[in-house]
Amino acid sequence: MAGEYYIGIDLGGTNIKGGVVSSDAEVMSSMSIPTEADKGADHIINRICSVVDEVTAAAGMTRQDIAGMGVGTPGTLDTKAGVVHLAPNMPLWRDIPVVERVQACTGIRTVLENDANAAAFGEFWAGAGKGTRSMVMVTLGTGIGAGIIAHGRLIHGDTDCAAELGHMIIERNGRLCACGNQGCLEAYASAVSLVRRFREAVEAGSKSVLADDGHAGDDLDARMICDAALAGDELANRIFHETGVFLGIGIVNILHMINPARLLISGGLIKAGDLLMKPVKATVEMKALPDARRNCDIVFASLGEDAGFIGGAGCALTAFGTSQ
Ligand SMILES: [Zn+2]
Repeated sequence: MAGEYYIGIDLGGTNIKGGVVSSDAEVMSSMSIPTEADKGADHIINRICSVVDEVTAAAGMTRQDIAGMGVGTPGTLDTKAGVVHLAPNMPLWRDIPVVERVQACTGIRTVLENDANAAAFGEFWAGAGKGTRSMVMVTLGTGIGAGIIAHGRLIHGDTDCAAELGHMIIERNGRLCACGNQGCLEAYASAVSLVRRFREAVEAGSKSVLADDGHAGDDLDARMICDAALAGDELANRIFHETGVFLGIGIVNILHMINPARLLISGGLIKAGDLLMKPVKATVEMKALPDARRNCDIVFASLGEDAGFIGGAGCALTAFGTSQ
């Protein structure tokens, strides 16, 4: 299949990342520019199209060399119609026929995908999920995103709402989630929730190098808590341990539902390494049915921020590739 090249676009609230990827998953070029989402949908479409032009030129190609394009976007969407309905973090990115618009300006046939799904597919195709036929990726960020691949294909569900694993309820009457429900996994194991639980512990009197007189700094973020934990801070360690236990409970449910061969964890929190992974694995060992956990490797993702655009290209290969 030499000679087939695809473009992947990873649209985020802050940046648009894109690249040209070969059908063998080799990245030929890539770039990232600010989304400038506050300037509206037309502006975002134009930004996507300029990324397409630039990565194509950077790979020494023209549009005619590109066999297809996959755009990963946040929000609820209709993959069959190629339309984004609603993206909570990008209020102006609403009811946009992305596929039609992008095809009109680039002339490249395009497929639309949820951003978490695209990232999971990137890892499946070219990263830590390589070699499996079934895997799940859970991404810990502001919220929790996820993608499920079974028999080599992303699971979309009837209305593109599958893999909303962050909204799996793990505590009845639990913490309030951004979705309005209580007790969602996201309300316990996302990076934002980790910071919130740390702050609450400080306000309740726990000591930490990141806290002074019962007050954690306003600029406190998950990365700082991670660094403090790695440097031995007791409270930061406890909060990471708790996060791992909550995440482990979520993963037990995933293993029982999907029985994947591999479970990937991604997002900035994975810099904590074993501080996160150990309690995850201990919880899975304790609570998962032996048959569900026996062959499932639980590992960190390997492509970092590139997973989204590589996966977008992989989705285009799946949709338009000649071997499919
Ligand atoms: Zn929720």
